[in-house]
Amino acid sequence: MSARRHVNVLFSAPKATYEEFHPAICAALQAAGVPARVAGDLAPEEVDYIVFTPNDLISDFSVFPRARAALSIWAGVDKVLHNPTLTMPLARMVDPGQREGMVEFVTAHVLRHHIGMDRHILSSSGWDQVAPKLARHRKVTMLGLGELGGACAQALSALNFYVHGWSRRPRALEGITCHAGPDGLEAALAGAEIIICLLPTTPETENVLNAHTLSLPAAGAVVINPGRGALIDDAALIAALDSGALGHATLDTFRVEPLPEDHPFRAHPKVTVSPHVASLVRVDTSAAVIAENIRRGEAGEAFLHLVNRQAGY
Ligand code: NDP
Repeated sequence: MSARRHVNVLFSAPKATYEEFHPAICAALQAAGVPARVAGDLAPEEVDYIVFTPNDLISDFSVFPRARAALSIWAGVDKVLHNPTLTMPLARMVDPGQREGMVEFVTAHVLRHHIGMDRHILSSSGWDQVAPKLARHRKVTMLGLGELGGACAQALSALNFYVHGWSRRPRALEGITCHAGPDGLEAALAGAEIIICLLPTTPETENVLNAHTLSLPAAGAVVINPGRGALIDDAALIAALDSGALGHATLDTFRVEPLPEDHPFRAHPKVTVSPHVASLVRVDTSAAVIAENIRRGEAGEAFLHLVNRQAGY
């Protein structure tokens, strides 16, 4: 009986990521029953699958003639989506561990502003007894109801927030008032007190929060952006914070990363900056997703989490 052919998996990632993920990907492939060789320096003509971080380490995908799919270990693939040499199926990462982490990040930051924690953290004097309204009376709007936004919206709904959501196509999520398409945006934002962005960057979503749309939420509303920096018009955001139209912005993603030290967000008293850590990909859970997709490829089954190039995400 001949031994089963092993698949060659090129793992292209920065050194630290490679060292962190390589053992987990090998173990996950073994657990999935896929004999594989995973390496960072395979001959291009031998590569069956490309597992990669979409950060320009590979600029020309046409040199991999037999590669069946490019599997990103990042959720966002905006940096590679428009590479004309990447014509093979492209899957993005949908990691259950990352989703769990995003729910924790978003819930924590929503509760910070809902409860008014800063008032007590920043002041140790006085006796300012202000009771927050109940969550059921607080309109929270989730821009993006996908893998991450949908899970966060449902976690906030489980805490009794009055949750509205916005997506490209109509959605029905229990406990969420759903809006869709360009016509649904104003209703989603009108009167919202906390707005969370979990959209991809596409030509349609760039600057979705701008001078006009930032005038729609309740006065003093809070914006939380773990999505992408380009979703917000930076100058309009700062103007809205300065005028009091917005009360605070918690920003995890930026047009330029790392955020330059002299960027106005850094010193702004109404901005919280975090360094793109809302939720990182978790090694074990994401390795299992990669292995499952390679198993599917070998079994002739459809890949999971394929990117819709026409929609741009
Ligand atoms: P999904 O692709 O699962 O969901 C995207 C959502 O955005 C969908 O609901 C989609 O609508 C909606 N959307 C896309 N285009 C439009 C549009 N033109 N108008 C209205 N809605 C639109 O993505 P994820 O939930 O997995 O991730 C969301 C983003 O989070 C990623 O793109 C990435 O940028 C960011 N991210 C940030 C991390 C961090 O640590 N800061 C970590 C991981 C991800 P529809 O439902 O109709 O498809």
